[in-house]
Order: sequence, then C-alpha cells, then structure tokens
Amino acid sequence: MALVKDSAIVLRRLDFSETSQVLAVFTREHGQQRVIAKGVKRGTRTRAGIGIDLLEKGDIVFTARPGKEDRLATLTEWRQRDGYRHLRDDLARMYAAEYAADVSVQLTEAHDPHPGLFDALDSFLLALHTHEAADALSTYLWQLLREIGLRPQMDECVSCGNSTLELSVLFFSSHQGGAICPACEPRVAEKRRLSKETAILLDGSHENVPGSVFPLLDYHLRETMGRPSKLSSLVRRAFGVRHRA
Ligand SMILES: [Zn+2]
Repeated sequence: MALVKDSAIVLRRLDFSETSQVLAVFTREHGQQRVIAKGVKRGTRTRAGIGIDLLEKGDIVFTARPGKEDRLATLTEWRQRDGYRHLRDDLARMYAAEYAADVSVQLTEAHDPHPGLFDALDSFLLALHTHEAADALSTYLWQLLREIGLRPQMDECVSCGNSTLELSVLFFSSHQGGAICPACEPRVAEKRRLSKETAILLDGSHENVPGSVFPLLDYHLRETMGRPSKLSSLVRRAFGVRHRA
C-alpha cells in the first residue's frame, strides 16, 4: 500500500461516526479523492476535536491501493496550510465558496488531475478576501468550464456558425454549447435569452469575467449537472440576482 502526498482543498465533508469523517478533497496532482479520516474528531481533555473543515487547504497524505481506486482512501496525515478565515464571517463569500466546491465535486472525476483548476480554486478562495464575491465566483466558474471542456461558444451561433456579435437578439442553449441566433432559435428546445453584453463578456477573449454573467453560468451548470447546485438559490439571493440578467 503506497502513501501519496499532495496539496488538497476540502470540497465536501460528512460526519461518518463520532470520531471519523469522510471527505471529498480536490488534490493538485491526483484530482478528486474520497478519503476517510479516522479519529480526526477525537479531542483531548483540554481541546475539543473539531476535525477538518470544509474549504480548508492542507498538505495531505493518503493511502493509494492500485486497482481499488473506487474504495475510500485512508487519510493518514493532514497539515492545514490555509483556513481561508475571511470566508467564515461573510455569508456571501461563504455561499460563493460552497457553490464553487459543490459544482467542482460534481463536475470533476475522481483520479482525474487538473492542477490548473486546483490553482484557480485556491486563487478564487484567496480573491474572496479582496474582490466582490460575484466577480470572483464567476471568474472561477469560467475557468472550471474551460478545464472540463464545457466552455460555451458565444461569438458564433453554434447551430449555423454566423457571427453573433452584431445581433441584438440572442439566445443561449446549454445543451447545444453556446449562443443561438434568432433564425436557428425555433429549432432549439432548451434555451434562454442571452443579452448582448453577456455574449461579449463571454466571447472567449476574457479570462476574468464580472459577476453580471453569473446567472448565465449558473443556468449552464444547472443544465449540465441536470439539477441546480444546492447553493444556487442562496448564492442568487446573496448576490441580489433577479431571474433574468
Ligand atoms: Zn444560427
């Protein structure tokens, strides 16, 4: 049984028993991993055992059993590197961070490394200290979509290929993978209106995108996952998002 060392961010945690936790962690070099942390919550007489928290970054050591990757790995060491303390006292920041964690768990595969996405997630969690939560989250989601190959095409109609940037009325289809022109729109079942401003902001020439595009990204992720993130309505409320933006 080999031991694997990596950097990791905790994306999901479940209390497993009085003293153990099951964690979904996103590691830099080994992708998403499910680990069981035994005895991690056991406190001492002077210190309560609180375990490992959601959305903290640390150096992790876990067991790797070749051929049994579908089983839970066992966490043998955790050294916290960053607790992103600034998240803990602001609801909009915390919801934004939990939303990012939730969609990252659902849209990345176990054992599929994305070091660029790991770095983007770390940068996003740090950026929540100084940037608007909506801007920081939208930029992270835009990077996530590139990493998993689901970034939509906005500068051309995905159905006919005509340029969309001069059109004043536009639609967006998640299943079709991008912008739809009014001529093609009647033949597309799943769609929503797309503002010209959002199409231009997401035309592929920007890596940092503003919070105004969040409703479209949230819609695209909901269609991709088949259901909304459980944080979606909380984030929308925290950002003051109306249904159409
Ligand atoms: Zn078209």
